[in-house]
Amino acid sequence: MINIKDNLDKIKAQIQQACQQSGRLTHLSEQSKQSLPVSLLAVSKTKPAALIEQAYLAGQHDFGENYLQEAIEKIAQLAHLNEASWHFIGPIQSNKTKQIASNFSWVHSVDREKIALRLNQHIQDNNCHNTPLNICLQVNISNEESKSGVAIDDIFSLAEIVNNCDKLTLRGLMAVPEKNASSACYEKMQQLFAQLQKQYPSVDTLSLGMSNDLEQAVAHGSTMVRIGTAIFGERTYKN
Ligand SMILES: *Cc1c(COP(=O)(O)O)cnc(C)c1O
Repeated sequence: MINIKDNLDKIKAQIQQACQQSGRLTHLSEQSKQSLPVSLLAVSKTKPAALIEQAYLAGQHDFGENYLQEAIEKIAQLAHLNEASWHFIGPIQSNKTKQIASNFSWVHSVDREKIALRLNQHIQDNNCHNTPLNICLQVNISNEESKSGVAIDDIFSLAEIVNNCDKLTLRGLMAVPEKNASSACYEKMQQLFAQLQKQYPSVDTLSLGMSNDLEQAVAHGSTMVRIGTAIFGERTYKN
């Protein structure tokens, strides 16, 4: 049987080691585990509520989901986990923005004006509990035709739109580099993030790195890694 707590411990040790190797931690101590410059988002898509609860009981509070319908069911089942924070990280259809705004406290995958404005509007309308909504702009860093994400040239105008939405807080950038992406791709993300941080004091999050590229992401300034497989095991359907 899968041991979620062991997997979380291993990933946290791996993050800590990656921080040290890239000079983002000066010394190793038990206390430094509490203050790592990289936070862990546990990606629980396709995994049952019971496993998420195990992770929660092991101290993990931030969870990422990609598929809205599935997520909403699990969020309802896990409503008793008072400290849980839900992050939407999947592609967004504009007719789903209302449910996203009312169920999540973070959205990492905002990539166009229409989505930002609709999320803002829904929060305004409901005055829901989770205000403001924390927003990362998803960047199409590998410039793939099929991939979601805002083009590099359009990041700063979209950032300004989000920053002007009073129910949204611009937190940073997110990317899913293609498999075996060059380090130039990670360097570019780091540079864009630094540029955005200079312009907006609310920006503190570079959401970058998954089970297979955690080290590379941490070496390039990631502040939040999104880990699924290494915590919950291989997924048996979808991706
Ligand atoms: C599935 C997914 C992850 C987690 O991927 P793993 O390889 O399982 O760690 C992270 N980010 C996004 C956007 C995902 O869709």
